[in-house]
Amino acid sequence: MHYDLIIRGGTCVFPWGETKADLGVKDGRIANLDVTTQDSAIQEINARGLHVLPGMIDSHVHLRDPGNAAIESIATGTRAAALGGITMVFDMPNTSPSITSAQTIADKRRTVAENALIDMGLYVGATRANTPELAQLEQEEGICAIKVFAGSSTGDLMIEDDEGIEAVLRSGHRRVAFHSEDEYRLQARKPLFETGMPHVNHMIWRDEECAFLGTRRITALARKTGRPVHILHTSTAEELDWLAAHRSHVSVEVLVNHLTQVGPECYETLGAYAVMNPPIRDQRHYDACWAAIRDGRVDVVSSDHAPHPREAKEKPWPLCPAGLTGVQTILPVMLDHVNAGRLSLTRLVDLMAAGPARIYGLQTKGRLAVGFDADLTLVDLRMQREIRNDWIASPVGWTPFDGKGVTGWPVGTIVRGTVVMRDDEIVSGPIGRLARFAP
Ligand SMILES: [Zn+2]
Repeated sequence: MHYDLIIRGGTCVFPWGETKADLGVKDGRIANLDVTTQDSAIQEINARGLHVLPGMIDSHVHLRDPGNAAIESIATGTRAAALGGITMVFDMPNTSPSITSAQTIADKRRTVAENALIDMGLYVGATRANTPELAQLEQEEGICAIKVFAGSSTGDLMIEDDEGIEAVLRSGHRRVAFHSEDEYRLQARKPLFETGMPHVNHMIWRDEECAFLGTRRITALARKTGRPVHILHTSTAEELDWLAAHRSHVSVEVLVNHLTQVGPECYETLGAYAVMNPPIRDQRHYDACWAAIRDGRVDVVSSDHAPHPREAKEKPWPLCPAGLTGVQTILPVMLDHVNAGRLSLTRLVDLMAAGPARIYGLQTKGRLAVGFDADLTLVDLRMQREIRNDWIASPVGWTPFDGKGVTGWPVGTIVRGTVVMRDDEIVSGPIGRLARFAP
C-alpha cells in the first residue's frame, strides 16, 4: 500500500490502551493502525521514543477576532495552539461584534477558512434577542455549542435570570455551555472592595458561593427542561461534589490553571497575571479539582485562553481585565502533571480528546481509529524545557507560566494528515477548517 503519511515506531494511545503501532494516513484519515515495512508513503515520520496521541483539543479559547485581532487573531491564536501541540480549538463568541447571528457566524466562517492553521469549532452566544433563533443557530456548520454567560466577564453577552436561561434551554436540543458564576452575588459583593486593593481580593470577591450558586441554579434548570448543559471552568469543591449527583444532565470542565496554580500565593507572585474568572482559589479547591480528575467527575480540561495586552493588565485591580493566555501552554503543563504522577497519559487523552468529542458531538475526532481524522499530537514525554514569554506566539507576548520548567513537550501537530508543527516550527499554511458536529 502507498499512503500519504506513515508514522512509524511511536507509542500510540488508543482508547483500548497504549501500544507501539505504525499508522498509515490517506486522504486526511487514519487508514491503517498496522502498516508493514513494505508499505510506503509520500512522507514518513520516525516517532521512535515519542508518544502519538489523538489530536489534542482545547475546547475553550477566546481569540479576539473579529474586533481585536491585534490582541489575538484566528491566525495568531491557531499558530500559538499548533506550537503547543493543539490540533483544534473551540472559540468563544464574546468578540466584537459578538457571534450571535447567522450573519456573524458566516463572517467568522470566512475568517477561519482564510486564516486558521488548525481546525476549529465556534460557539454561538445566547442573548435575550436571539433566544428564539438559537435552535436554528446551533445547527449552523461548525457550531460546537451555544454559550451562555450567566455571570459577567469580558464582553456584553449576558443572561443572568432564571427565566432568560430557561428560555435558552427550551430553544434547541444540543448541549449548552455555561459561564455559571451568579451575577447577583457578584454585583452585591462589589461595593465591599475598592480600586487599587491587592489582586488577592479577586478570589475573595468572586468567592466559592458565587460559583456554587450559579451552578446550582443552572443544574436545576437543566433538570427542569431536560436539556444537557456543560458547566465551564468548574473551580470549587462545592460544585464538584454537587455535580457528582447530576451527571445525567451536566458535564464538567476544569481549567488547567485551577489544576496548577494556588491562591493566595499566585496573586502575590503574579499580580494581575493571575486574575481570571472564575478566580484561581486556595489549596482546598485545588485538591478538590485533582480529586475530581482522578475519580472521573471531570469530562474536559481546557485553557480558557483569554489574552489581554500588558497595558490593560497593569491597571489596578479590579480595572485590570480578567483572563490569561493558555492555549500554547496547556499541553506542556498537563504533560508535566503526567510526569509528576498526578494523572495518566490515558486520562489526559480522555480529558483533551475523547472528552471534548463526546461532550460536543464531534463526528470523526478524539480517538486514534481507522476512518477517523488523522489529527495527531506527537509528544516527547522526557523532554525538559522551560516555558518562557519569548516562546509565546500570541501578540500579547506573556504567559502566567513564564519561567516554569516542565518535563514533557509537544514535538508535532498533525491536522487531517498535514504536518502543521514539527519541533517548534510551523511548517504548513492555514489548512484549518470548521469541524463537523452531530446535529
Ligand atoms: Zn472563557
